[in-house]
Amino acid sequence: RKERLRLPPWLRTDIPIGQNYTKLRKDLRDLKLHTVCEEARCPNIGECWGGGEHSTATATIMVLGDTCTRGCMFCSVKTSRAPPPPDPQEPVNTAKAITEWGLDYVVLTSVDRDDLSDGGSSHFAQTVIEIKKSNPSMMVECLTPDFRGDLRAVETVVDSGLDVYAHNVETVRDLQWCVRDPRANYEQSLQVLSHAKKYNPSLITKTSIMLGLGETDDQVMETLEDLRQIDVDCVTLGQYMQPTKRHLKVKEYVTPEKFAHWEEVGNKLGFLYTASGPLVRSSYKAGEFFIQNILQ
Ligand code: SF4
Ligand code: SF4
Repeated sequence: RKERLRLPPWLRTDIPIGQNYTKLRKDLRDLKLHTVCEEARCPNIGECWGGGEHSTATATIMVLGDTCTRGCMFCSVKTSRAPPPPDPQEPVNTAKAITEWGLDYVVLTSVDRDDLSDGGSSHFAQTVIEIKKSNPSMMVECLTPDFRGDLRAVETVVDSGLDVYAHNVETVRDLQWCVRDPRANYEQSLQVLSHAKKYNPSLITKTSIMLGLGETDDQVMETLEDLRQIDVDCVTLGQYMQPTKRHLKVKEYVTPEKFAHWEEVGNKLGFLYTASGPLVRSSYKAGEFFIQNILQ
C-alpha cells in the first residue's frame, strides 16, 4: 500500500489576515450565519473577507441545512436520506444578516437536497430575492446542486435575479464515477450549466475543477474545452485535499507552475476569468474577480 503523499511546502501556509477580516468575523458572531469559509477553515479567508485592492469582501453562506442527501468521496459534509426540512424563515433571515454584515459579494451554496421535490431551488431563489430586496447592489452568486438534472429547478434559480450561476463539475469526465456520488455525473452537470446560460444568456456561468485526483493533462484540457463549448464564462482550478482518512486519497500535489499553466490555457480558451492555484476554491475572491474581469 502506498504511503500518503507528504504535504508540499506551497500548501503549508499561514492564514493571511486582511483589513476587513477582523471586523467581519466579530460581526458574524451575532448574526447566526453559517459560512463555509469558517466551517471548512478555508485558507483563503483573509483574502476573501479582507477584500483585496478593490475591497470586495466575499463570503460563502450555506443554506438548506448542514446535512446532504448524497455522499461524494471527496466531501466531509454529513449525510442522511431525510435531513430536517428547510427553515422557511431562512431566506429572510439570511438576507437580513448578510446585509447587516456588510459584504459586497455573497456566494450562496447548499448541500444536495434530493429529498425536496424542487431540490431546494425555490429556497435558493427566495434567498436571492430577499437579498436583492434589502440590498440591490449586493452581488449574488449561487453555487447550486445539479437538481438531478431538473431544468425547471435551474430556471427557478436563474429567474431569481442572481448575478452568477455556478455549478461544479468537480473533476474530469473519466473520474466522475469514483469521485462524486453516483447520482451526479459529467453530462448532467454540463447540462445544468448549459441550460442556465441558454435560458438567460446575459447571466455569468461558472464552474470549478479539483486537481490531484489522478486526472491526466489531456483530460483536464478536454474538460476546459467542453466547458467553453457550452459558454461557461469562468472556471476555477484548485488542489484536492483529503478531508479525512475515510475520503479519497490525494494522488498528486499539482505544482504552482502547473496551475499557472492551466490559468494561461483558460485565458487562451476565452474564459472571462480563470482562477487557478493550489489553494483556489470555487468561490476564491469571487467578488474581486467579478469586478475586475466582468463589470469592467
Ligand atoms: Fe458534499 Fe455536495 Fe457531494 Fe453533498 S453533493 S456530499 S455537499 S459535494
Ligand atoms: Fe470563503 Fe470561498 Fe473564500 Fe474560502 S474561497 S474564504 S470558502 S469565499
